[in-house]
Amino acid sequence: MAQSRRGCGCVLATLAVVLIVGGFIGWRFVVWPWLEKRRAEQPPAASGDELKVVAIDVGQGDSILIVTPGGKTALVDAGEPGDGKRIVEALKRHGVDHLDLFVATHAHADHIGAADEVIRAVPVGRVLYSGVPNPTRNYEDFLKAIDEKRIELIRAAPGQTFELGGNARLLVLAPIEPFFTREELRSGGNEPNANSVVMRLDYGEFSMLLTGDAEAQTEERMMRNGANVSADILKVGHHGSKYATSEDFLKRGAFKTAIVSAGADNRYGHPSQEALDRLKAAQVRVYRTDFQGELVITTKGDDNFQIKAAREPKAGEDLWAGRQAIRDDSARRGFIDFGDLPPPPKPKPENANSKKKATTGR
Ligand SMILES: [Zn+2]
Repeated sequence: MAQSRRGCGCVLATLAVVLIVGGFIGWRFVVWPWLEKRRAEQPPAASGDELKVVAIDVGQGDSILIVTPGGKTALVDAGEPGDGKRIVEALKRHGVDHLDLFVATHAHADHIGAADEVIRAVPVGRVLYSGVPNPTRNYEDFLKAIDEKRIELIRAAPGQTFELGGNARLLVLAPIEPFFTREELRSGGNEPNANSVVMRLDYGEFSMLLTGDAEAQTEERMMRNGANVSADILKVGHHGSKYATSEDFLKRGAFKTAIVSAGADNRYGHPSQEALDRLKAAQVRVYRTDFQGELVITTKGDDNFQIKAAREPKAGEDLWAGRQAIRDDSARRGFIDFGDLPPPPKPKPENANSKKKATTGR
C-alpha cells in the first residue's frame, strides 16, 4: 500500500515537472514572442502635429514622399530613369533636403529608375530593398550609387519597424520568405513584383498601406501570414493592374480611400477597369495621379485626413474609367519587365497639349 502511494507520488511529481517545463517553454517560445509581435505592431499615440504623404506625379511609376512631424523623411520609390530632377524639385518644394530612409519596393525601372539620381543629389540615411535582384543596368546603377555614398542597405523582412519621429512609423509586411518563384506565379507574373516590399505607415489613428507592385498572390500571402492590412488609405498595388487589389484584400483592408500612381497614355493599361470596379464596389474613394497630378495627404494622426490634388480631372477624364493595355501581359510567356513593350501610341494633336499640361501641371 505504502509502495503504491510512493509510485503515485512519483508520477505526480514527474507530471508536475513536465507541466512546469512545458509551460515555461510554451510561454518563452510561443506566447512571449506573440505578445512581443502584437506590441511591436501597436502604433504609438500621435504627437498631434502634421504628417504629410505626397504621391509625386512621376507619370508611369511610383514615388511617394513621407514627411513626419518629427522632421524625418522617407521616400518610397523613385520613378523612372530621368525622373531625378522632378523628384528632387518636389522634395525641395516640400521643404525636404535629406532622406532618412529610401525604400526600393522592387527592382523595376519605374520604381528604382531615378534612385541613383536621387541618392547622388540628396543625403540618404539608409536604403531598404526587397532583396530580389533584377539583371538590368538600372539596378546596377542603383546599387553602385548606394555603394559610392556608403549607405547602409537593409533587406526588408516582415515585422521590421522604422521609427520616423513624431511617433510615425513604418512596419514591413512583405516580402515574406521563401520568395515567390516564377513557377508559383500566374502566367506573365514576375518575381520582383510579387516580392515587393509592402509597408504600413502608422501615425496615431491614421494608417496607409504602401504596396509597391504587389500582386493578388502577395495580398493573399500577407493575409494568410496574419498581417494587419487594414488602413485608411491604400496605395493601389501595381498602378491598378487587374492582377492586384483583390476583392478579399479590399474587404480585409476596409480602406476608405485609394490612390493610383500611373501615367497618362501608359502602355500597360493601368489602372485597369477590373481593379477600379472592385474599388468602386468596395466603396473606396479613388484618386489618380494621371488625372489629378501630385496628391498631398495630410493628417494630425486622428481619424481625419485631407487629400489635396494638384488639379481637377479634365472633361472626359473619368476617375472610374480604366485604360486599355496594348497587350495583356498574362498572354506573355516570358518575363515582362518595364519597358518591354513597344512605344506608346502617339497622342492625337488635341491631346498632345493636355498631356503636356498633365505632366507639368502641379
Ligand atoms: Zn511599377
